Amino acid sequence: MTRGGRHRAWTTREVAFLIDAAGRLPLRTICKRLGRSESAVESMASKLNRSGEHLTLKCWSSRLVWCNECATWRTGIDDKTGRCRVCTMREQLRGREDACSRELAIMTPEQRLVYERTEAQRRTRKALERPQKRGSCPMSRYERSKAEERYLIDLEEWEYRTLRLRYDAAKTRLRRMREKTGRNPRKGRPPSPSESRI
Ligand SMILES: [Zn+2]
Repeated sequence: MTRGGRHRAWTTREVAFLIDAAGRLPLRTICKRLGRSESAVESMASKLNRSGEHLTLKCWSSRLVWCNECATWRTGIDDKTGRCRVCTMREQLRGREDACSRELAIMTPEQRLVYERTEAQRRTRKALERPQKRGSCPMSRYERSKAEERYLIDLEEWEYRTLRLRYDAAKTRLRRMREKTGRNPRKGRPPSPSESRI
């Protein structure tokens, strides 16, 4: 009971350290740094919570990884490209859109007119709803980290799906343009009558 015992009073600095480290460092590390037992640290945390803190000793370890390209935390990075799936999809979309502009450039004015007229008649799809950051009520660092991670995962999914829709749309646009110009490099043959119909 003499060394690191439960009767040793907490200093202001120790309390400040606990407030700062709770939920950020594993309990084991906190105990080691303070030279106190788990039960001593736990009882101090409850005492602080009774006086208005929101400490939890559970430590949140995120599974997200950093994507250098978009400078965001993501659920995964491709080993070969070092990119997240949002960046990969964005790159693919860029490729499709470039192909669309190239195709548009080689169209005759008549083809372009017909294409633009039919394109204008098509309805655009409704945009997907962007996830919202929520919760302003007091949360412990653990809950906050967990909520932040959830939000980042939802945001990634939303960004990916939004780009994916644009990618699919560009793909369809390209196909329709190639029907007008009679070019279809993938198939390497002239379009059949059904394909060339407007
Ligand atoms: Zn990225």
